Amino acid sequence: MGSKKTKRRKAAVTQAPRLRLSDRLRLPEGPVDLAALSTSETVGFDGDKADGVAALAALDDELSELQEKLFAHGRSGGQRSLLLVLQGMDTAGKGGAVRHAVALMDPQGLAHTAFKAPTREELAHDFLWRIRRRLPRPGMVGVFDRSHYEDVLVTRVKSLFPAATIGRRYAAINRFEERLATTGTTVVKVMLHISKEEQRNRLLTRLDRPDKYWKYRRGDIDDRALWEDYQRVYEIALERCNTDITPWHVVPADHKWYRNWAVAMLLLEALREMGLDWPSADFDVEIERGRVLAS
Ligand code: AMP
Ligand code: MG
Repeated sequence: MGSKKTKRRKAAVTQAPRLRLSDRLRLPEGPVDLAALSTSETVGFDGDKADGVAALAALDDELSELQEKLFAHGRSGGQRSLLLVLQGMDTAGKGGAVRHAVALMDPQGLAHTAFKAPTREELAHDFLWRIRRRLPRPGMVGVFDRSHYEDVLVTRVKSLFPAATIGRRYAAINRFEERLATTGTTVVKVMLHISKEEQRNRLLTRLDRPDKYWKYRRGDIDDRALWEDYQRVYEIALERCNTDITPWHVVPADHKWYRNWAVAMLLLEALREMGLDWPSADFDVEIERGRVLAS
């Protein structure tokens, strides 16, 4: 038992990147050319798949402790929360990142939402209405599998709204996220970046394996035919909404193991940055000890 722990900790130390991973994966300001950004590099990680799987497991203890501190902070009146925004093309692995990276955390402190095409009720409201309703409460880690960014991505590719309406949304998103950040929510925005070839492989896998049929949607092929259009609207959204307060990170996602490690690491760094401590007791510890002993 003890030796396993020590081994894990060693892996964590040797794999700690020199620069913060969030700095390395942060999208630089300015025009975005997704084709120029790697989908397969293992930025900030030295090692192969087996090392990556071990390094992910090694993040568990610290991630869990920091998440618990955040949860405790929320329970004692604190206002902080964390929001992970996951975007990416079909098959990019948004669900996989949740299952493997986010799942290291305690479900009690997680609020997960997978946004689908809006319902009639949602469409009757401003596009941020349904997003606001799913924001993490104080102490919680919110996870968005797709998000308000769909309202400038799929809607733009498919012209679901007038161009002028969509055009106003970038600034609305920036105002919304700035507001979130200044009222206690750390927003971690991650685009999982896969290559067109990797998407093809993953779609084929869904057809090769009966246990993957359920993930296959015939419409995914129609979206795939619009790959370049999607890349273009992603580039626009990433550029316009890449602010200092809520920057974008682009995670090369062709390697699932790297994607999982990178997402966990970005969460960990964000939690570290929050600098949370255990809340102090709002009771007299000695008096309470006496009461317990006397009971
Ligand atoms: P999936 O994530 O594979 O379950 O698919 C969810 C679907 O919902 C995708 O086809 C998205 O394009 C679609 N979707 C999510 N948000 C929106 C939105 N705001 N407007 C239109 N379609 C959306
Ligand atoms: Mg899908």
